[in-house]
Amino acid sequence: MADMSRISERAGAITPSATLAVDARAKALKAAGEDVIVFAAGEPDFPSPPHVVEAAAAACHDPRNHRYTPAAGLPELREAIAAKTERDSGLVVEPSQVLVTNGGKHAISSAFATLLDPGDEVLLPSPYWTTYPEPIALCGARAVVVPAGADSGFKVNVDQLEEATTARTKMLVFVSPANPSGAVYAPEQVEAIGRWAAERGIWVLTDEIYEHLTYDDHRFSSMPVLVPELADRCVVVNGVAKTYAMTGWRVGWMIAPPDVTAAAAGLQSHTTSNVANVSQRAALAAVGGPLDEVVRMRKAFDRRRRRMFELLAALPGVTCLRPEGAFYAFPSFAGLLGRLVAGRLVTSTLELAEVILEEAKVALVPGEAFAAPGYARLSFALGDDDLEEGMARLAKLFGG
Ligand code: PMP
Repeated sequence: MADMSRISERAGAITPSATLAVDARAKALKAAGEDVIVFAAGEPDFPSPPHVVEAAAAACHDPRNHRYTPAAGLPELREAIAAKTERDSGLVVEPSQVLVTNGGKHAISSAFATLLDPGDEVLLPSPYWTTYPEPIALCGARAVVVPAGADSGFKVNVDQLEEATTARTKMLVFVSPANPSGAVYAPEQVEAIGRWAAERGIWVLTDEIYEHLTYDDHRFSSMPVLVPELADRCVVVNGVAKTYAMTGWRVGWMIAPPDVTAAAAGLQSHTTSNVANVSQRAALAAVGGPLDEVVRMRKAFDRRRRRMFELLAALPGVTCLRPEGAFYAFPSFAGLLGRLVAGRLVTSTLELAEVILEEAKVALVPGEAFAAPGYARLSFALGDDDLEEGMARLAKLFGG
């Protein structure tokens, strides 16, 4: 017993979420009275829509919501999610294929836990959202990173995926609009990748959480809609967090073939049981309601996106692609590395982010968190004045 370690190998191997860590550090500095501008958070600055809040308040007073409910989700919410999915992406599913989870993040880890065995490989295009590799590793499976650079707009193609595929490849993680790159795949690209996966018999986890946040001519398209033959090997992940400014309510879902959803629901019956009923009622009001608030928020994000892009492009040593979706800019800071910033030699974006936080009181997430050193992620889901102030501080720091 003496040589048994306190922490399991599985948990010990986990890298805690870098984005949450930067966000927590920035929020702590703020709470301590520091005037920090936070470009780090992946969350809208708007409050949740009033009708959502009212539905939750009413739900608090209804004793039905004080009790356990079905582990897979309130039947009316599963129905509303199926209806919303058809409305928004065109994918037709049965309510029984929907599993309501504790946020999109939980849907992702549940999908991996339900489908992956030790030794399985998962194709993970990079830059990737920092969470994906960890729940893959928890299953004993392996993330195989498929890098996409700025030259391809941070998008991978079928040839790259084919090259990374082995006999152990079980799944592809596909995210568009993407975090952290803001890339949106064109319908032809989505279709080509979907057809390849279907022919190869490879599962696809498609994360559609930013479906409503696209700009200019870019439009979201859902892989299983463009490639119906993929439906039997496809898991769609989504949630209310980004679309309805509901990050704190913790409601997401996965949509999968019936056997997969049933297995994931069985798992959930032993882990979390039902998601908090008040939050589910709030989510029901959100997905069952209109999209006007979303349209209003998207307008604000679009304005901030243009402004941030303009200001980033003017910074010396910084280059940036125009974000196509989500609410992130992902500029390269390679031109600043190996140079002095505020009198300090900076050799990586990890160090640069540190210097920026300490010297300019601006929080951003270094690209190392997304397997893309040399870059950093800046969220533009913050107020216009904060955006101006934060960018002005960067300009001053870099001498622009
Ligand atoms: N997928 C992506 C690509 C995300 O960026 C996020 C949030 N950062 C999520 C899923 C999860 O969102 P939540 O758990 O808050 O629903």
